[in-house]
Amino acid sequence: MSLLPLFADLSGRTVLVLGGGTVAERKIALLLGYGVKVVIHAPLLSPQLERWRSEKRIDYRDGAFQEAWLNSMWLIVAASSDPAFNRYLAKLAGERRVFINVVDDAVLSTFHFPAIVDRSPLIVAISSGGTAPMLARMVRERLESMLDESWGMMAELCSGLRRSIRDRFPDLHARRSFYELLLHGPVAMLVRKKRIGDARRAAVKLLHADGFTQNGSVVLVGAGPGDPGLLTLRALRAMNEADVILHDRLVSSEVLDLARRDAERIDVGKRVGGHQITQERIHALILDLVTSGKKVIRLKGGDPFVFGRGGEELEFLRAHNICYEVVPGITAAIACAAYAGVPLTHRDHSRSVHFITAHCRDSLDTLDWPALARERQTLAVYMGVAEIKTLQTRLLEHGRAADTPFAVVENGSRSQQRVVTGRLDELATCTQAYALRSPALLILGEVASLAPRLSWFGQAPLTGAELQSSRSSNDCARAA
Ligand code: SAH
Repeated sequence: MSLLPLFADLSGRTVLVLGGGTVAERKIALLLGYGVKVVIHAPLLSPQLERWRSEKRIDYRDGAFQEAWLNSMWLIVAASSDPAFNRYLAKLAGERRVFINVVDDAVLSTFHFPAIVDRSPLIVAISSGGTAPMLARMVRERLESMLDESWGMMAELCSGLRRSIRDRFPDLHARRSFYELLLHGPVAMLVRKKRIGDARRAAVKLLHADGFTQNGSVVLVGAGPGDPGLLTLRALRAMNEADVILHDRLVSSEVLDLARRDAERIDVGKRVGGHQITQERIHALILDLVTSGKKVIRLKGGDPFVFGRGGEELEFLRAHNICYEVVPGITAAIACAAYAGVPLTHRDHSRSVHFITAHCRDSLDTLDWPALARERQTLAVYMGVAEIKTLQTRLLEHGRAADTPFAVVENGSRSQQRVVTGRLDELATCTQAYALRSPALLILGEVASLAPRLSWFGQAPLTGAELQSSRSSNDCARAA
């Protein structure tokens, strides 16, 4: 079977649907979405179809089926459960040269409904010619994730400029280069930012510019905690368009694998000659790349605005008039809590959650310890492994109960994830005994007691109590 793809304007035109079940319902929902006047005939209507009928969104034909109905129809959809009736309908439709779709019967059908990706006015329709609808659906899913919602608005913008673009670039090759620039450059970025007026003005300016040289742009993207499934769709789309990806040490290789294959990857989190690449050096690198027209993705672990220095980078970009977007990511506290089964603000246990960093002694000195030591609140502590002993001491000194539960999550959401739970007074001992390493996040508060019960990912949590009992049995063994 060889099918010719067509896009039909059926708005305001009548289509007859035969059948009153959920299959008919799905087809009718689709037809209504495209402005079709639906006429339905069925012995019994599903509750949803009844509703549409009473709202006069569909026109119900009562009584016995009449062949003459077909004469005024543009299309027929046979969705009845009676194969003989469907065959009869296919024959009638054929005689009248009206296209018919017999649901789930590729042979009887003279038209098929494709799988659709709708970014109206841009529409992608996919068909497997009735051979493997599942395959068509899978292709659709792929395209859905690839094509940003802004493509529809972009198509509208292009339609307004189509004539001028054609006049300015009569040569097909030059026209294509212009469209490339339009669809992948700052104009598209403005459309994504929902600044349509600015996008139109920028497009017109570009149209009348002497040359095509254009600065690149930066998307500051949160890569989440490591599990690539936790990337946002927007992050994935941005990574698919990147020329260069500047990433931190915390960004997992599984996440990087999802980026456009040809994109250059630069690890700016690595140490060169024992020194971390400085922020100034990163800024200079971004400026260089953008000036040479590159689309740069600045990929940061978790969320770029949560202990990620994303703000500093944006200030730099703004100061240099560089276009940017920000894509949030799932921050470590949220991800680690979810993957360790710790509801951060379970209402029986906690009224608030505080994101704090225990990066170094100085940062610890600036914290409001009396406030942090209050009960029934959750602390999510980033970068805390090295300073864990100080943290424990200060909290105890300021009155947090010694038996306050904690959960430390190491490599949260990754295959090597480990969770250690215990009481505040054994926090440092446990961290040391289990040799917990960065990246690890500490969750402290009553909610952490839920981890052993609600955990679901990776190994079951290790506990401070286990440590104690193995210690005492060692002691016993030694004593014996
Ligand atoms: N912007 C990041 C945080 C950067 S600070 C975010 O929003 O998540 C780095 C600290 O984040 C690490 O020291 C650790 O405390 C925490 N962290 C990041 N990823 C982590 C992970 N997968 N598991 C545990 N902690 C993590």
